[in-house]
This record gives sequence, C-alpha cells and structure tokens, in this order.
Amino acid sequence: MHEVPIATAIVEQAIQAVAPHRATRIDLVEVQIGRMRQIAPEALQVAFAAVSEGTIAQGARLEIAEIEMEAVCRKCGQRFRPEIGLYVCPKCHQADVQIVAGHDMILKSITAQTPEESPPA
Ligand SMILES: [Zn+2]
Repeated sequence: MHEVPIATAIVEQAIQAVAPHRATRIDLVEVQIGRMRQIAPEALQVAFAAVSEGTIAQGARLEIAEIEMEAVCRKCGQRFRPEIGLYVCPKCHQADVQIVAGHDMILKSITAQTPEESPPA
C-alpha cells in the first residue's frame, strides 16, 4: 500500500504548518495529488486515519483533489493531457514528451482549532 508514506507526509506537513499557531486540533486537510501518483483515494483515507491517530490531526477530514497530468512535446511544443502509459504527442505523434504536471502532492489548505481567536487575515 503506497498510500501510507503519502499519508504520513500529509500528516507531518499539516502538523508542521499549524504548529506556529499552537493549534490544538486539525479539522480538515485539503490536498491535491497528481494523477501520476496513481493514488486510490479510499486507501489514502484509511492510511490517513491510521497515521494521524494519536496526533492533533486525529479525526480530521481529508479532502483529496486530483491534478490532471500535463505534458509538453519536446519536438513541437504542443501541450496536452496524456493518459498514464500513453505519452504520445497528439500533434506530431512523437513520444518525446516532458511531464510538467501530475506528479506532485500539494497541501492546499488546513483548517485547525487554535486556543485564541485569530486576527482576521
Ligand atoms: Zn509534438
């Protein structure tokens, strides 16, 4: 299950991000994950629940959004959305492409409880 290390990274990053605010509990974590990671959202939810146990992120909701893959053809510069395992340029039919999006895991936002009222941003 390769979702576990990703869940661990999400929990660690979320806790680090709210640490300066002395957060007591994390309610919601929103992440964006590139399609190339081939994550099963249900498996990631299960892994997240297991990994966050005993931390301030325990019981937090995890919202997962997928990032579409994007490639640029090195021959003609065409930008397109490839399928996994099918990286052929639709314009010049070369398979010499660079993947420019779709392999990242981005922590988009975190909602947490803090001890005092935060000043308006
Ligand atoms: Zn091309």
